[in-house]
Amino acid sequence: MQIILVSRARKLPRTFDLANPRLRLKLLAGLALALLGCVGIGGVLALTVASPRDRALAQIHQLQQQIRQQDVQLVGVRMDARRGLDALAMKLGQLQAQSTRLNALGERLAEVGKLDAGEFNFDQPPAVGGVEDATGSAYALPQALDSSITQLAAQFDTQQAQLSALQSLLLDARIESNLKPTGMPVQGYISSYFGVRADPFDGHSARHTGIDIATPYGTPVHTVAEGMVTFAGVRRGYGNVVEIDHGNGYMTRYAHNSKLEVHPGQHVQVGEVIAKAGSTGRSTGSHVHFEVWYNGRVVNPLAYARNHR
Ligand SMILES: [Zn+2]
Repeated sequence: MQIILVSRARKLPRTFDLANPRLRLKLLAGLALALLGCVGIGGVLALTVASPRDRALAQIHQLQQQIRQQDVQLVGVRMDARRGLDALAMKLGQLQAQSTRLNALGERLAEVGKLDAGEFNFDQPPAVGGVEDATGSAYALPQALDSSITQLAAQFDTQQAQLSALQSLLLDARIESNLKPTGMPVQGYISSYFGVRADPFDGHSARHTGIDIATPYGTPVHTVAEGMVTFAGVRRGYGNVVEIDHGNGYMTRYAHNSKLEVHPGQHVQVGEVIAKAGSTGRSTGSHVHFEVWYNGRVVNPLAYARNHR
């Protein structure tokens, strides 16, 4: 095949022989280039015109998927939160019950300890409400719970302070009680009381400065209160005697012992054995002569001896 091109510029028509292989190659290359150009332009056109919409659609699809996932997650979170809040509300209820019990205990302690009830405010009502009001909405609950917890925490703080004060008061009371002469220093019966009596030796009227407790020889003699031994030795008339200072104005004396078990300066606890009963000094038989002194004056020990700790 031959193509003949005729142009005005040229005097002679130009002839292309398509049978010529070189020319064919040139033409094919030209066609290929044109095709490539078309594809390129088409691609650019496609990108500039069609792509934004597709991309937007893809993005919308993606977002829809994300929203669906978040919905599922939110349902889960809501359920978790609900469960968590329910557990929290239950815990709060338990704490409130404990607080109420603590109040009751505090009141009873104050009563048992014979403490001034006015000093302790245990009858304050425990924190209630809030939790019940807020069961309708999952979003109202946290705030109500939060305020209930804050209230409860404050109440526990107050109770703790009050109980600490109560404890120290009770401990002080116990210490005080340990220092006060209470009970009999020895098992036995009272053979002679405090006050004016006929002297057992000469029959003259004399003042008996303590009580005599008849008891077998060698019976352990106990201190009736905690204190410090200030004297352990022989005194005229008293024989082997122990004197104990209790540090609060009280002093006790235990006389006519056969044996002393303590030494001066020794600290003795309530009920500790300080001597063995006997009949040393001015005595007609085995007994313990027991004296109680308060602020430097001898007092009737009977009330102390008959008390119980
Ligand atoms: Zn006596």
